[in-house]
Amino acid sequence: MAGKLTLEGLKAAAEKGEIDTVLVALVDMQGRLMGKRFHVDFFLASGFEETHGCNYLLATDLEMVTVEGFKATSWEAGYGDYTMKPDLSTLRRIPWLEGTALVLCDVLDHHTHEDVPHSPRAVLKRQVARLEAMGMKAMMASELEFFLFRDSFEEASAKGYRGLERIGAYNEDYHIFQTTKEEDVMRAIRNGLNGADIPVENSKGEADAGQEEINVRYADALTMADRHAIIKNGCKEIAWQKGRAVSFMAKWDNQAAGSSAHVHQSLWSLDGKPLFFDPEGEHGMSAMMRRYLAGLLAHAGEITYFLAPYINSYKRFAAGTFAPTKAIWSFDNRTAGYRVCGGDTRAVRAECRVGGADLNPHLAFAALIAAGLDGIENERELEPAFVGDAYHGSGIREIPSTLRDATTALDSSEMLRKAFGDDVIDHYVHAARWEQTEYDRRVTDWEIRRGFERA
Ligand code: ADP
Repeated sequence: MAGKLTLEGLKAAAEKGEIDTVLVALVDMQGRLMGKRFHVDFFLASGFEETHGCNYLLATDLEMVTVEGFKATSWEAGYGDYTMKPDLSTLRRIPWLEGTALVLCDVLDHHTHEDVPHSPRAVLKRQVARLEAMGMKAMMASELEFFLFRDSFEEASAKGYRGLERIGAYNEDYHIFQTTKEEDVMRAIRNGLNGADIPVENSKGEADAGQEEINVRYADALTMADRHAIIKNGCKEIAWQKGRAVSFMAKWDNQAAGSSAHVHQSLWSLDGKPLFFDPEGEHGMSAMMRRYLAGLLAHAGEITYFLAPYINSYKRFAAGTFAPTKAIWSFDNRTAGYRVCGGDTRAVRAECRVGGADLNPHLAFAALIAAGLDGIENERELEPAFVGDAYHGSGIREIPSTLRDATTALDSSEMLRKAFGDDVIDHYVHAARWEQTEYDRRVTDWEIRRGFERA
């Protein structure tokens, strides 16, 4: 695949003067890349072995606040270092940055060199290991949506993110002409990602003005989660280079559609047999797929935090918008939280439509796999498929509609506590409560507009 590098390949590229910089990054709690820029000579001499980063990187919020109350680190503990261990299988060129390569790191305890359990890559690797012990792997694909603006990030910030101009003026769902006008950015994104060991299938206009979707080929869960994090960072960097802004907020404007990250998932044997496929089953679904899907539904409330981690994430769950509000399954029905796609083929798979574009892919994939595995291990029975408009049906299992409810469900999830470990769940419950508290103490524009004179 174009862009993939080995250490030897990096050495050769450095000798030819093609690469002078290596980005060495971990994936943080928000799914962002955090790390350092190495000179390639230093990276090749010793940096490839390990580097270090402050351990507050996995105990902070979107704004890099040193949040008090995490067990893992604190002022009291002195905010020491983590070891960042490059995973050389993720080494790749970054074609949109001149002379640059990137490697992702595992985050290890500085002293013991054990995985830091709440590090998003470690959380996912733990679930992948459970699958492997059962002779299986999960293949995943996340479809990322985002808005593209005419303004640059700097202009958007200077305007206080008000009165932004979207790249298009009308709903551009599948629209070729409108998206032709956006090719300056989107073609650079497709080709850039493809040259960075991320096989792009397509991009398309989405269901609102200025909304885009990028689809890449499915891959094993860890590879796909890594790619997802690099795609988001790459879209931001490429848009920035073109003097444009993008936003992956789940709901950046009341009037606009939300941006999602639908996750397609299927289980395969380690030697490549599609375990979700049974030609005799309903829609070609195997008994294993039915149990996995039943697990997703049984734990839909508990895993929602990992699909919708911020206050804003819950603003996306609105009826009649293609964003789901109900945790039910259906066959090829976009009003359901979980949809079966690729029926009656080897590609039969479950699509989780709950997550927003703001999710952390490693945590989200891990939570989905854990819920699905619980369904398999407990041989859960799949309820009948939902037919019709799930938005307006009554008595149907709801997706938690607030961060507060999702946090309570997360905190009390025996399934997730067993799968991830108590310390990991406590860590993310604390992050969720912090997010809620930070919001609760703010007075919003809406309150002032509504009440200033009339209250
Ligand atoms: P739709 O447009 O109906 O959502 P697509 O055909 O565009 O579906 O596929 C969506 C995503 O599903 C793509 O990223 C594709 O690579 C991925 N995908 C295809 N087959 C599988 C599979 N067996 N398991 C997981 N993901 C898959």
